[in-house]
Amino acid sequence: MSAVLPNTHPRTLFVTTALPYANGAFHIGHIMEYIQADIWVRFMRIRGNEVHFVCADDTHGAPIMIAAEKAGVTPQEFVANIAAGRKQYLDGFYISFDNWHSTDGEENHELSQDIYRRLRDNAKLITSRSVEQFFDPVKNMFLPDRYIKGECPKCGAKDQYGDSCEVCSAVYAPTDLKNPYSTLTGAAPVMKSSDHYFFQLSDPKCGQFLREWALDPARLQPEVANKAREWLESDSGLGDWDISRDAPYFGIEIPDAPGKYFYVWLDAPIGYLASLKNYFKKTGRDYDAFMADPTTEQYHFIGKDITYFHTLFWPAVLHFAGMKVPNNIFVHGFITVSGEKMSKSRGTGISPLRYLDVGMNPEWLRYYIAAKLNSHVEDVDFNPEDFIARVNSDLIGKYINIASRAAGFIAKKFDGKLGMTWATDSDSFLSALRAAGPEIAALYEAREYGKALRTVMEQADNVNAYVDANKPWELAKDTANNAKLQEVCSRLLEAFRILTIYLKPVLPSLALQVEHMMNLDPLTWSDVSHAMPDQHAIKPYSHLMTRVEAAMLDKLFEPSADAVPTADASAAAAATGIEALSSEITIDDFAKVDLRVAKIVDCEVVEGSDKLLRLTLDVGEGRLRNVFSGIKSAYKPEDLKGKLTVMVANLAPRKMKFGISEGMVLAASAKDEKANPGLYILEPWPGAQPGMRIR
Ligand SMILES: [Zn+2]
Repeated sequence: MSAVLPNTHPRTLFVTTALPYANGAFHIGHIMEYIQADIWVRFMRIRGNEVHFVCADDTHGAPIMIAAEKAGVTPQEFVANIAAGRKQYLDGFYISFDNWHSTDGEENHELSQDIYRRLRDNAKLITSRSVEQFFDPVKNMFLPDRYIKGECPKCGAKDQYGDSCEVCSAVYAPTDLKNPYSTLTGAAPVMKSSDHYFFQLSDPKCGQFLREWALDPARLQPEVANKAREWLESDSGLGDWDISRDAPYFGIEIPDAPGKYFYVWLDAPIGYLASLKNYFKKTGRDYDAFMADPTTEQYHFIGKDITYFHTLFWPAVLHFAGMKVPNNIFVHGFITVSGEKMSKSRGTGISPLRYLDVGMNPEWLRYYIAAKLNSHVEDVDFNPEDFIARVNSDLIGKYINIASRAAGFIAKKFDGKLGMTWATDSDSFLSALRAAGPEIAALYEAREYGKALRTVMEQADNVNAYVDANKPWELAKDTANNAKLQEVCSRLLEAFRILTIYLKPVLPSLALQVEHMMNLDPLTWSDVSHAMPDQHAIKPYSHLMTRVEAAMLDKLFEPSADAVPTADASAAAAATGIEALSSEITIDDFAKVDLRVAKIVDCEVVEGSDKLLRLTLDVGEGRLRNVFSGIKSAYKPEDLKGKLTVMVANLAPRKMKFGISEGMVLAASAKDEKANPGLYILEPWPGAQPGMRIR
């Protein structure tokens, strides 16, 4: 556990999550990160600290520019559409951001240009040099590596990306590709040089600063610090960072450099500051004074995939721009489902909106994720059986039941009034509950949520043991026991109140219900030590939380109607010779079949099946599909990886023995494959893009 700062006076904190790229809806990985950060923020708030919690859409770069063009809208319209879809997720899972902004907002343009000028003029860490790069002569633009394909220089595999071969795993520069082509136009790219701007991370003063900042043992998580040490001490040293891109580019113009834009990765983290500035503008606060105050603490929650940017570039950019440097970067792992790496292609992904749509309680997920999280960069596994057990046995069985067992008697027999004369500071039942508070607080602060919840549940166990020892339902049988019954139930409700404070960062909506039912002001951490007064009146018990049903999880993992199509390509038929034509159809009949260009991102054999291959397909939807195809007799996985093919994209998803198949890949064959062997999948000409419709 990292050192816990004293909480003797209110602290002022500025907290962010990573900015999601504005090319698609949130997935469960985003929601996990937001839940992790939100719990921390809510904990800090009920401790009496001032917390500003902001985020924004990361909007710039070639992928969004190109996606917008395809969609026939401006990039600004494109990202505005994405932004409009964010609220339902954030509200749905009780994520308490103070502000949601955009890296295309005016504050980010100003801040990015200001930071750049400081790095250039004051720190003298900006340099420029000519870079040779592929240029698409049809589209008239320099091509990011991801838009260049060609033949692998090593194994000759076709249609390989510009950085590495998916067939033989060779790594190379885009310029090494044989017969390269632009995936945007299919044109052969030409080499062209252009001046690029660099942030000189190789300057010794950057290395010196970063060694002090990143390797301070009180700062980064140990595994993150180790990674940073590797980077800082590698033989090649830190490399300069290319921070410019040529027009056309959706981004922020570089001052005094016409036609040059900041690379999206420069202005994206500056979006943290821009969102805060935008929020302060709206609420009439002084952003500059806030950021200049040395006591302001700054924290960023991020996923492990963007550690390099956040532990090297970002602190160096801020430091040498003369600005506040983050106090810390909190790195988390990914979310897996039943032990499988989170992949929408497997049909195992959890859609956050589907979770809400099937009526699952968002606080179950908050609780479950919290129970699995620790302070390390470890993946979190969502396991349906474990989910049911934790929600039903811990959350409902141990915690909620305390209130349900006690509140009814108080309402029925005592006019809703508590008897609290026993609640002195020397009362051992009360002291034990209160004594757990500092440890639970320290665990929350250290992001050891799993341990924090275990500690809370140990307290709940003790309270339940008290219930079993005193049996209120037995006491209620004889009015002679009324005084005892009132005390027992009042103790249980006071215990429930304290446990609710301990769980409030994780269960904010439930805490609100409890406050209402128990007639309490919003609970803060310091209320742990203030017992409810004698004769305090509570409202009648209302149902606080239901149990999770296994059927809900079945529904959650069922393919939804909007999560398009499927099928097994084993349908690639059989019969002798060439088949006779089917009966005539109209153009409208044909139009019902939505055929799309699909990229085979991954392909693997299916254990236990001698016919099927499992294909992971990109149909340009911002998600991947899982399709089973009966083509194992004709293709090895490595033959297919990286290829384009054609799929029926609007076929209803089909549940198969090995999982859900979300579409069908087309293949040609003779009528009887045994008599006339040969199975041939389709491949479009170069230049076709995943998602293009075939008509
Ligand atoms: Zn290769």
